Amino acid sequence: MKVGVIGGGPAAVSAILWLEKFGVEVFWLNETKLVGGMVRKTFNQVLDLPIQPHEDPRKITSELEVLSRKLSTRMNVGCLEEICSSDGPVTLQYTQDGTTSAQEVAGVIIATGTSKRLLDVPGEAELLDSRVFQSASAHKDSYSGRKVAVIGAGDAAFEGACLLAEGGARVIVFVRADISARGEFVKRAAELGVEVRNGTQVSGFKENSTLEIQVESTQGAQTVEVDAAFVRIGVSPNLPIFTGQSPKVDREGYLWVDANMNTSVPGIWAAGDVRSTILRSISTALGDGALAAASAYASMTSRT
Ligand SMILES: Cc1cc2nc3c(=O)[nH]c(=O)nc-3n(C[C@H](O)[C@H](O)[C@H](O)COP(=O)(O)OP(=O)(O)OC[C@H]3O[C@@H](n4cnc5c(N)ncnc54)[C@H](O)[C@@H]3O)c2cc1C
Repeated sequence: MKVGVIGGGPAAVSAILWLEKFGVEVFWLNETKLVGGMVRKTFNQVLDLPIQPHEDPRKITSELEVLSRKLSTRMNVGCLEEICSSDGPVTLQYTQDGTTSAQEVAGVIIATGTSKRLLDVPGEAELLDSRVFQSASAHKDSYSGRKVAVIGAGDAAFEGACLLAEGGARVIVFVRADISARGEFVKRAAELGVEVRNGTQVSGFKENSTLEIQVESTQGAQTVEVDAAFVRIGVSPNLPIFTGQSPKVDREGYLWVDANMNTSVPGIWAAGDVRSTILRSISTALGDGALAAASAYASMTSRT
């Protein structure tokens, strides 16, 4: 009996490690050939991983790579599009280079994490990664002496604004409704001279010699010129389409699980950031992966 594991971040690697330990055959699918998931996209110090190598996300990624090379399961590169589950086996439908393939498994662990949300406004997709970015820490020293915008109201937005200001940029934060960032970030931003424009909604981007941001507020529409913009408006779970039975999700669309990572659909488990939780971290993703693997194994053995 084969169990599918979808993802390449800490939750997936941990799940595969444990499934192999239990002697379960694994079908591993990840969107990219690279292991690490969000850790690969982390540039700040990791302060809360209680085992070595903590702090440097690049070292954590390379440890995950070393670990994944030791696995006997080989990764299939492809994007999971659909999970079809009735009462029997689960069918995974995935695409690679425009070709759709299907794999039947006895069950599946979804460890697909989250993606940073975008504003979905005109000009954003075209200017993504040239003028519009999603990570301030990756560019923190690139805008010294220049003017940048940060869009968002949470921790990531205000932490990003602080990093950019510390790197010497003049920063404006556009906040649509209420600031939800921790007080320490808001205070630090104020100390660094970050300007906060409350009640503003970004409605588009346009590139001239600068980046023009269209902003709407109660005072009407205006254009603000900056050198770059950083969109930090939160994340959302990466979920496939479910046909047959659909697992329960929480208000924000994350997969609901019980204490053992069982979703509401038998044969589907979830681990890591994709599941409903109050904490999304490397430690919890590793633990979730192990627990999901143990649940999958228990379910497989009880079926035989
Ligand atoms: C900027 C930033 C800073 C962070 N700082 C910290 C920190 O200091 N400490 C800490 O503990 N945590 C931190 N985190 C959070 C941590 O990175 C995540 O909690 C952790 O990576 C979650 O692991 P995961 O395996 O659940 O998901 P991810 O790491 O997101 O991995 C998901 C994987 O699924 C794959 N995937 C997605 N969709 C599909 C699909 N349809 N088909 C196939 N594969 C798919 C992706 O390619 C990826 O490999 C940070 C995250 C960010 C973004």
